[in-house]
Amino acid sequence: MDPLKALADAERKPYWLDEDPFEPEPLPRIFGHTQADLAIVGGGFSGLWTALLAKERDPGRDVVLLEGQRVGWAATGRNGGFCHASLTHGLANGLERWPYEIADLHRLGVENFNAIEETIARYGIDCSFERTGELNVATEEWQLDEMSEVHTIGRELGADIEYLDRDQVRAEVNSPTYIAGVWERGDCAMIDPARLAWGLRLACLRLGVRIYEHSPIKHIVKDGTALRLTAPYGTVRANRVALGTGAFSPLLRRLRHYLAPVYDYALMTEPLTTEQLASIGWKNRQGMGDSANQFHYYRLTDDNSILWGGYDAIYYNGGRVKIGYDQRDATFLTLAEHFYETFPQLEDVRFSHKWGGLIDTCSRFSAFYGTGYGSRLAYAVGYTGLGVAATRFGANVMLDLLDGLDTERTRLRMVREKPVPFPPEPIRSGVIQLTRWSLARADANGGRRNLWLRTLDRFGLGFDS
Ligand SMILES: Cc1cc2nc3c(=O)[nH]c(=O)nc-3n(C[C@H](O)[C@H](O)[C@H](O)COP(=O)(O)OP(=O)(O)OC[C@H]3O[C@@H](n4cnc5c(N)ncnc54)[C@H](O)[C@@H]3O)c2cc1C
Repeated sequence: MDPLKALADAERKPYWLDEDPFEPEPLPRIFGHTQADLAIVGGGFSGLWTALLAKERDPGRDVVLLEGQRVGWAATGRNGGFCHASLTHGLANGLERWPYEIADLHRLGVENFNAIEETIARYGIDCSFERTGELNVATEEWQLDEMSEVHTIGRELGADIEYLDRDQVRAEVNSPTYIAGVWERGDCAMIDPARLAWGLRLACLRLGVRIYEHSPIKHIVKDGTALRLTAPYGTVRANRVALGTGAFSPLLRRLRHYLAPVYDYALMTEPLTTEQLASIGWKNRQGMGDSANQFHYYRLTDDNSILWGGYDAIYYNGGRVKIGYDQRDATFLTLAEHFYETFPQLEDVRFSHKWGGLIDTCSRFSAFYGTGYGSRLAYAVGYTGLGVAATRFGANVMLDLLDGLDTERTRLRMVREKPVPFPPEPIRSGVIQLTRWSLARADANGGRRNLWLRTLDRFGLGFDS
């Protein structure tokens, strides 16, 4: 089908947030003054996990969560729903940056992932958690080396991981573009992210967390031994503050050096018929990803629609963030074209939704952590497109730091080290656009990396989504 026609009637909204019967009623905004032991800014996965774990650790702790819009409306409610155990944006990235720590990072990631599954069951959260694993496919010869390396290291770390040759991978999911694959069977689940966020929100409310929506915090100042947070119609005085503000302008100025807001986009198809699904196989319903620098991720939903996202990661010069930027027709068209190239059998399938969302990219592609205001405030940001599960680990790190605890988590180099900062604007825009252009050229040239990318590699820097 002509991709333009296939996209013509698609709703311009995130599928997960569109008229879902599970969507809860809005909560009030903050009016007047209140006090709390812990104030959390941001109602995405980061803030929600922090609130839940804070109450689980100490039910007597008075916890307030302040969300600028609606809980789960941002990246949390519009992502691919890959709940992956990795804390390091994948094994290859973790191995490159923390080779001596990767075994611990892998174990901690799996423990965190298992705890998410257990929490979902314990609170009865209906978010279609399906432990399908993730199947990464190679579509070009040059991608095979890294794929073999990930497979070997994964096995050494004890992961349930399998290398599939061309016939085996196509027997799992049938695309003429696949030449091999690595299936991480155990440590990744597909979820409905909005329903997980709403479920966590309800669990927090039941444990006594006070949640205020439409309550953007404008600034934070010291107030004696505590901190004061100011929203348009109210203030909170809190002994401790946790920031889970994702890609949005951080309330701690110094974090701006490390974060770049990047838009990532996705499409949803209409539900596949039984025959259409049979034409591509996919009986094991794995999350899928391909292996170019500009990669796609895709998965099935409950009703056998396909979410198809990634490829373009757009940085608007100057780090601009605007509501309208979550729609980009040129990217939707590219994504639709790639969808039909991957699955020519599905040429009759149309798209029902098209949307984008903001990712908090940093130069090491995985979250960084720290404190401010004399350790009264903690932050965990920079998840760069793999934060569905890792935000729970980040929440635990923030609570460890705020409680002054010396734990295995806080001793990790990954937790103690910061990423290399991005240069200031306008150089930052130039550097990011040059890197994006170079990555696209590498994909087009058999993976060959130009001088610019090789220089960045030498310093462990890069750009990813
Ligand atoms: C299209 C897309 C696909 C993705 N796919 C995946 C995937 O498949 N798997 C995966 O692991 N990750 C994925 N991600 C990334 C993942 O969604 C994020 O890492 C994760 O949701 C981050 O959660 P968060 O709470 O840190 O940030 P967010 O969800 O962005 O939440 C931050 C919240 O803070 C609020 N806020 C900000 N500033 C203030 C303030 N001053 N006052 C009050 N509130 C404030 C915002 O309104 C927002 O609700 C994807 C992201 C996108 C955009």
